[in-house]
Amino acid sequence: MIYKLSNKRIVVKFGGSSIKDSFREALEFVLKLHEENEVVVVLSALRGVTDALLGLAESKDKSVIGKIARKHSILADESGVDCDILEPLFVELECVLKNERRFPNKGAFIDHVLSFGERLSVIIFANALENSGIRSEVVDALHVIKTDDNFGNAAVDFSGTAKRIKLIEKLLNEGKVPVVTGFLGGYKGLRTTLGRGGSDYTATILGSLLEARAVLIMSDVRGIYTADPRIVKDAKLLPFVSYEEALNASALGMRALHEKSICPVMGRLPVILGKTDSYRLGTFVSDISAEVPILTYKPVNENFACIGVVGLREVNFNAPIYKKGKNWISFLVKREELENSLNDLHEVIFK
Ligand code: ASP
Ligand code: MG
Repeated sequence: MIYKLSNKRIVVKFGGSSIKDSFREALEFVLKLHEENEVVVVLSALRGVTDALLGLAESKDKSVIGKIARKHSILADESGVDCDILEPLFVELECVLKNERRFPNKGAFIDHVLSFGERLSVIIFANALENSGIRSEVVDALHVIKTDDNFGNAAVDFSGTAKRIKLIEKLLNEGKVPVVTGFLGGYKGLRTTLGRGGSDYTATILGSLLEARAVLIMSDVRGIYTADPRIVKDAKLLPFVSYEEALNASALGMRALHEKSICPVMGRLPVILGKTDSYRLGTFVSDISAEVPILTYKPVNENFACIGVVGLREVNFNAPIYKKGKNWISFLVKREELENSLNDLHEVIFK
């Protein structure tokens, strides 16, 4: 792999769960990166907001709008940003909710409602950056990420998107930090979304089209572990994970990185995962593997889950094999036994 070290572009994505009540840490990190690099920020919605909007699209319950508004005005206050600038978006949201019948179908309506999560968070972030003395501009991915009309899980049209990347390049050339809405795209003027957790994908699409030197994925975990550290206490952080391992692990349920996000960067530029609140970079995803297995899990149905082991083809484990691939294997377990099984299997592999 040839890293474009001469290129000073970096794309950094912040996850909603790592923001909590303040953008302070994320802002400080961007200021630091900006000293030596051209920085593009990709932002998710704040924690819980996409779920709330999804409920709102169904219930049209106005009290939800009030809750979302409060959450953002607290963050705006904390960030020294006047929350009045968010008002037009809330007016638009109310108007969209009243006019569902004007959308070509339900999916198009839901995606428009979901778009407000990211559109609200980027306004606060870009304004907070300006307050810190960094010129910045909001970029609505509707105008950059071109997709098909598969609402809810739209496929990206890379050549169409490549033609629009100039919009971001222009801002970089002006010395500005573009703050881009993650997760969102556009199809003939309608709003689309890239699938839940899709902001990672936005970041790697942009990183690849901008020929960035790296994509940083900042969240509330330090990186990729040998197993989910919230369930397996002995889980170890992996300093290196190969593209292929990351791809297999996310397909088998690992949530640190969105499954689609590896494709645009594979063999081209590294993805580095880190933790927002300490700026600690934990895992480097590239051609290099640590050659350590990764355990994953995901539900199969109401009663069963599967545990995946990436990096091994055979494991002696007391559960039926569910599926097998070139360099991975998965087992079927009862959902209520998932925690124990994950811990047991981790012990078997890492004893
Ligand atoms: N806000 C979106 C979601 O909750 C996208 C993302 O967080 O990456 O799925
Ligand atoms: Mg995520």
